[in-house]
Amino acid sequence: MSRTALRICPLCEATCGLTLTIEEGKVTRARGDRDDVFSQGFICPKGAAFPAVDGDPDRLRTPLVRVDGELREATWEEAFDAIAAGIRPVVERYGPNSVGVVLGNPNVHTMAGALYPPLLIAGLGTRSLFTASTVDQMPKHVSSGLLFGDAGAIPVPDLDHTDYLLLIGANPLESNGSLCTAPDFPGRLKALKARGGTLTVIDPRRTRTARLADRHIAVRPGTDALLLAATAYTLFDEDLAAPGALTPHLHGLDELRVALRDFTPEAVAGACDVDADTIRALARELAAAPTAAVYGRIGSCTVPHGTLASWLVDVLNILTGNLDRPGGALFPQAATDKTPRPAGPGRGFALGRWHSRVSRHPEAKGELPLSALAEEIDTVTDEGEPVRALIVVAANPVLSAPDGNRLDQALDALDFMISVDPYLNETSRHAHVVLPPPPPAQSPHHDFAFNTLAIRNQVRYTRPAVPLEPGRMAETEILARLILAATGMHGADPSAVDTLVIDQTLGKAVKDPNSPVHGRDPKELAGLLTGENGPERRLDMMLRLGPYGDGFGVRPDGLSLARLLDHPHGIDLGPLRPRLPGPLKTRSGKVELLPEPIAADLPRLRAALDERADGLVLVGRRHLRSNNSWLHNVPALTGGSNRCTLHLHPEDAERLDVRDGMHVRVKGAGGEVTLPAEVTDSVRRGVVSLPHGWGHDRPGTRLGHAAKEPGVNVNQLLDGSLLDPLSGNAVLNGVPVQVSPVAAP
Ligand code: SF4
Repeated sequence: MSRTALRICPLCEATCGLTLTIEEGKVTRARGDRDDVFSQGFICPKGAAFPAVDGDPDRLRTPLVRVDGELREATWEEAFDAIAAGIRPVVERYGPNSVGVVLGNPNVHTMAGALYPPLLIAGLGTRSLFTASTVDQMPKHVSSGLLFGDAGAIPVPDLDHTDYLLLIGANPLESNGSLCTAPDFPGRLKALKARGGTLTVIDPRRTRTARLADRHIAVRPGTDALLLAATAYTLFDEDLAAPGALTPHLHGLDELRVALRDFTPEAVAGACDVDADTIRALARELAAAPTAAVYGRIGSCTVPHGTLASWLVDVLNILTGNLDRPGGALFPQAATDKTPRPAGPGRGFALGRWHSRVSRHPEAKGELPLSALAEEIDTVTDEGEPVRALIVVAANPVLSAPDGNRLDQALDALDFMISVDPYLNETSRHAHVVLPPPPPAQSPHHDFAFNTLAIRNQVRYTRPAVPLEPGRMAETEILARLILAATGMHGADPSAVDTLVIDQTLGKAVKDPNSPVHGRDPKELAGLLTGENGPERRLDMMLRLGPYGDGFGVRPDGLSLARLLDHPHGIDLGPLRPRLPGPLKTRSGKVELLPEPIAADLPRLRAALDERADGLVLVGRRHLRSNNSWLHNVPALTGGSNRCTLHLHPEDAERLDVRDGMHVRVKGAGGEVTLPAEVTDSVRRGVVSLPHGWGHDRPGTRLGHAAKEPGVNVNQLLDGSLLDPLSGNAVLNGVPVQVSPVAAP
């Protein structure tokens, strides 16, 4: 007997709707859902491989608990008993900061990952929080926090309506988009060109996206902020800066003009290896386009000036009058956003409210740099306790953080470690308890985070496509029980966690004069919630209190879970619309064009005008069939062109006496790796490229397929000392390396 079920794809940020074929309880096929209000049938090779991802036989089926040094299969009760017994003594003896929490990127792709980790962190009271954001997009959060007063207020390019798109450090033909949720991103770029628009790509690699562009600027890695600063300078210099309707919302325009005066195109040309005329032409094109959007992504974030580059992306959108207007870059309005408050001064955004213990890195958005995790565990100082216990949720920092070898050793020194992970991987193999969530087809799905970054406002929810297998526990329940066990309430009913959140949220809402439920009885409201379980009731509450919600009856046509369930392919909420000053939460109530931390970091950028890399530098790369370290155990998603090789330019290869396919040794500050070379002119001279997420050759894992083609861990080339100081983001691009040929092993 075969049937179909809908499921939003969790394998990248595009959030395509899938139609799954289910046979005998197993997913056997995935197609694009043609009726999905957002993705309209689009699917990529990763989505098509959903059945293989879901049915991977190496997924753990039961919890593992370490007994006599060995991880053994255990019952859920035994696992949570072990957690309560292992974590609480650490908290009680050494204090809350001695328990670290590491959250990986997959948390943004699950409902459980959105709803429960904040409660875990708050319940523990720990400041030792490390996430994948600091090896990825933290600079964008910080620049948004400083500009707009809200680290989550990230404008996205209006892909379907813009006349001119400038992409910097982004390769959406492979990634399908990031910090910009857009099913069929490649098709939308082609549509831009078909309607006469212009695509410009700034990237040291001639990526598939760059090949589609009208103009490709092969900038020297790590100099994006200089290039963007000179573009902004030119707008001022040539009287092209025209914020237009934005002007009343801006603060600091004159100060910005002065701050950028040293960054002339001529001054940055040498460092960027881009001639001044090209930079001036870029500025003129941006200014002349009827509408334009500048969009920066990982290549411009994971560099020494990542926050400045991210800030300058929005500065360009503002100076050209393209922020917050159709065809430019707009702020989405998600269905589960908080009740909009009236415009006016907000609380602002603070950086460095506390610091890491060893290297004194400032916190950003409540997080410490993932690069500092190893030293926070293995280094004793006079100040505070090291991290002695770690809770790792859907993260594999041994592969994703700089200097995995050091972290590998540090994890072994922990008093206690928990991993919530479907696999026994390079990180979870160190845990004392491993809690495996069920495969995605057995979980419900709603995109809390990605809807706040979507190019069209819409809302979708899919219930589990297949029931939980016997012996499985829902990920939401796993995390609720983990919170209880880690915070001294082991054994309590896990639904108490959701009830507590609902009571607190409704209690606040009824006191908020801007809320549609102001003045009502929270108990009455809680009684009106629908849903089969706690997470669904929480989703119902968020939808009903949100900007499109029914306000618990105040707006009968508004959103609720029941209404969403009546629309299995989702509900379209319309195109992005101008929202300023609504999203602003700065203390001034305006866009702060030159916030103090940015101004204080500009001298460092000025010093970079004279810097020149005289050797090879490393950049990353993405493949369509890959996503971090998640998918290397799926045969359909590995092999072919998705291989862990070192790309280097033919002239560099000749100079180094390297031939295509030959093994090369790559050395960096943190170590060395040996892998095959791929000679290609898709990288510029002086640049080599290695994908991340590989290096599946450590013992004690259960990743049978990944171990056959393990690749090498690019992060082993880093020693963790290179960071963007404002955001704590690791520098992963433009890193100096040496390459030499070796005999094939
Ligand atoms: S583009 Fe992303 S969301 Fe869409 S099918 Fe592919 S992996 Fe899934």
